[in-house]
Amino acid sequence: MLIFHTVHQLQNYLRHQKQKGLITGFVPTMGALHQGHLSLLEDSKKATDLTICSIFVNPTQFNDPKDFEKYPVTISIDVELLLKAGVDVLFLPSVKEIYPNGTVNQPHYDLGFLETVLEGKYRPGHFQGVCQVMHRLLTIADAHHLFMGQKDYQQCMVINHLIETQKIPTKLHIAPTLRESDGLAMSSRNMRLTKEDRQTAVAISQTLTQMKMQLQPGSLQKIKDDATAFLTSKGFRVDYTEIAHADTLALVNNWNGTDPVVALIAAYIGEIRLIDNMLLTKTD
Ligand code: AMP
Repeated sequence: MLIFHTVHQLQNYLRHQKQKGLITGFVPTMGALHQGHLSLLEDSKKATDLTICSIFVNPTQFNDPKDFEKYPVTISIDVELLLKAGVDVLFLPSVKEIYPNGTVNQPHYDLGFLETVLEGKYRPGHFQGVCQVMHRLLTIADAHHLFMGQKDYQQCMVINHLIETQKIPTKLHIAPTLRESDGLAMSSRNMRLTKEDRQTAVAISQTLTQMKMQLQPGSLQKIKDDATAFLTSKGFRVDYTEIAHADTLALVNNWNGTDPVVALIAAYIGEIRLIDNMLLTKTD
């Protein structure tokens, strides 16, 4: 595996590989890698000739500075995992390399409705940071294919919007959420949970399953209220338990029985904020 720290070196290398006709796949991450990340890398390896993984904890997407400071960093373990996974290239840039002109005065992206609901509403500025880093990374990697996880449902929609509006010639593939054996969605943040909170955290996926079972045409208010009440009773501080149109993320209060819908949850256990989602109208 080749490790590049600078844009210049990475682009030089990739130019030569593409001249040979190789198809490239890109998996951007913030490190602290787990099986969920590895499944994306596996998808890329199957679909392309050369897989590029990036590890970059992007400061501009953290609306909470404490969350940024405490974000887990496990680079040497990550490198081992990537070697075992057979990844071809690791891009490990510094903040200066990604933002040579600094992190302030970055471009603003018009995300419309997507920035006003759910993660957009509860994490102001988060998706601006996501777009800033992803626009830069996608331009640098200039890959044929991009692999991201359904775990970050709204993020996938934001990136889809970015690719379309900025006319980025990379195809987005969305992979299913990998879960622990008890159902907890894998996440780098899980390693910050205490033993007790880790056990409690399973309630999020249980709630999503319950929401799926309760779904029927008509008002969805009781389903959402039950979900919040259950999580609160378990000790969570709930940001939202919502049901939205799976294609637009427009919140659905009355379901017509046919529109595709997704349930989405964001809740704190202790100081750790966890998110998860489940498609309610098809098997996840
Ligand atoms: P992150 O390192 O959290 O920024 O995530 C990097 C990529 O991995 C994103 O596309 C995430 O959606 C994806 N990802 C994170 N957790 C999972 C999971 N449990 N299953 C599948 N993909 C995931």
